[in-house]
Amino acid sequence: MVEEEKSLNFIEEIIEEDLRSGKHEGRVLTRFPPEPNGYLHIGHAKSICLNFGLAQKYNGKTNLRFDDTNPVTEDVEYVESIKKDIQWLGFEWSEELYTSDYFETLYNYAVDLIKKGLAYVDDSSAEEIAAAKGSPTVPGTPTPYRSRSIEENLQLFEEMRAGNYQDGEKVLRVKVDLENPNMHMRDPIIYRIKHAHHHRTGNQWCIYPMYDFAHGQSDSIEKITHSVCTLEFIPHRPLYDWLIDQLDIYPSKQYEFARLNMNYTVMSKRKLLQLVNEQVVEGWDDPRMPTISGLRRRGYTPESIRNFCERIGIQKRENMIDVSLLEFCIREDLNKSAWRRMAVLDPIKLVISNYPDGQVEELHGENNPEVEGGDGSRTIPFSKELWIERDDFMEDAPKKFFRLGPGLSVRLKHGYIVTCTDFKKDDQGNVTEVYCTYAPNSKSGEDTSGLKVKGTIHWVSVTHAKEAEVRLYERLFSEENPAAAEDFKSSINPDSLSIIEKAYIEPDLENAIPAKGYQFIRLGYFTLDAKNSIAEKLVFNRTVTLKDSWAKEVKKG
Ligand code: ATP
Ligand code: MG
Repeated sequence: MVEEEKSLNFIEEIIEEDLRSGKHEGRVLTRFPPEPNGYLHIGHAKSICLNFGLAQKYNGKTNLRFDDTNPVTEDVEYVESIKKDIQWLGFEWSEELYTSDYFETLYNYAVDLIKKGLAYVDDSSAEEIAAAKGSPTVPGTPTPYRSRSIEENLQLFEEMRAGNYQDGEKVLRVKVDLENPNMHMRDPIIYRIKHAHHHRTGNQWCIYPMYDFAHGQSDSIEKITHSVCTLEFIPHRPLYDWLIDQLDIYPSKQYEFARLNMNYTVMSKRKLLQLVNEQVVEGWDDPRMPTISGLRRRGYTPESIRNFCERIGIQKRENMIDVSLLEFCIREDLNKSAWRRMAVLDPIKLVISNYPDGQVEELHGENNPEVEGGDGSRTIPFSKELWIERDDFMEDAPKKFFRLGPGLSVRLKHGYIVTCTDFKKDDQGNVTEVYCTYAPNSKSGEDTSGLKVKGTIHWVSVTHAKEAEVRLYERLFSEENPAAAEDFKSSINPDSLSIIEKAYIEPDLENAIPAKGYQFIRLGYFTLDAKNSIAEKLVFNRTVTLKDSWAKEVKKG
């Protein structure tokens, strides 16, 4: 077999060049730097697969660094969830680190800059600073504080740390270039005063470094070789390099790739938090959420998410990925791994008139016929009365309806061929029972009846069926790009969740394994909702339908 030669993405090309030239002593050390202010989403998965994937490919390592410089929005709950999600995705970090552990070092870096005449304390208000910064076409002007002496700056910065000032009273800025066409270079703020409790450092600090003064410096402290981030940080790169140069610390380098955007989804933590807080969804792990925890609860596997990230690849330009691709990836995975089971979601009763009263047969069904050599089997009780799907019966069946209707025959999956003889309706005209006869010599696998039928339907024995709740999910948004609207919540799909309170499942599903995928034959892929299931009532979540029904819907509409 010829091994498929995959072309390198642009970051791999850079790394291979660096390895050839001996830059970074031949090391590859990446980092994944989440801010612990929310749960990870599928966009983060792209970054995780990239950062950890690069390290794996080049025999390097990846640090997990919590970018915890924003005490107000951060929480340990998020730290724990992030760690769990990365592990679940199948990656192992080298070191677990926190930017807050570097607060003292970062403070000293700032003092260094002051001593070099490269940083100053500014008493101007946020508005005054913004106004004096000018605009991309108008150069900035110095505030009166830019010319403060080194001694005064050292004194004031120390007092800022000591808590002598209120929030917003003073900031520390670096002295770069007020006329630089790149606004990020016009004396950016590197420290602000924030009297707030931090989830790790408590009340030890009341000044916190800004992103631009924390990120690159943390990279440098850890000797990160390739600091990969998303495109919006391109204009920050000159400042990233400038600060490292001025401080004369380890020359980490920043590279940018296009973030994942996916249609019918929002992907910013701020918006996802809003959905949680306003109870549009049940929580961060609601199966409709694009979070890793939501996808996990929905029945996505780590393999399917890694495959998705592999397929979409790494680009230098923003693009929009079709959510159908994600659905394709989970279908592909579950087709190979999910166990086949029978469940009836909208039941009517089928009575086999000529089947002996009280008789029960143990039929056999393979767990997964797609697996070469098999994946085991289970027994399925069969008896005179069965639940079948309401829409598998039609009173006036059209010609191509290969299911049940008066006079029509069908095979019961793993069982016999039955022929419909009669049916009963209630006062409202709803069919309540369907009657049929079976051919005793037509049993699946040992059929000598010579009968030919075109359709097979699923069923569950009435006396053996277990009740379960089944939750059917659709896309959370009905607009392709919900974030483009003024209010992203205006396109929330009102039918994103339908609950079937009483479905019937085959008895083997009572032992459903958490996190395992099950194909409910003809209906879709499902998984146990371990969070909401109780012994008396299991709950199943639909992961995905068997086919891309959405594509058809769109064409019809
Ligand atoms: P959000 O915009 O959702 O709040 P963020 O960028 O603020 O995300 P961080 O916790 O700072 O979230 O992100 C950690 C890492 O994940 C960063 O390196 C960031 O670039 C990356 N990342 C975040 N969102 C995406 C995305 N949609 N696609 C790819 N990478 C992403
Ligand atoms: Mg961020």
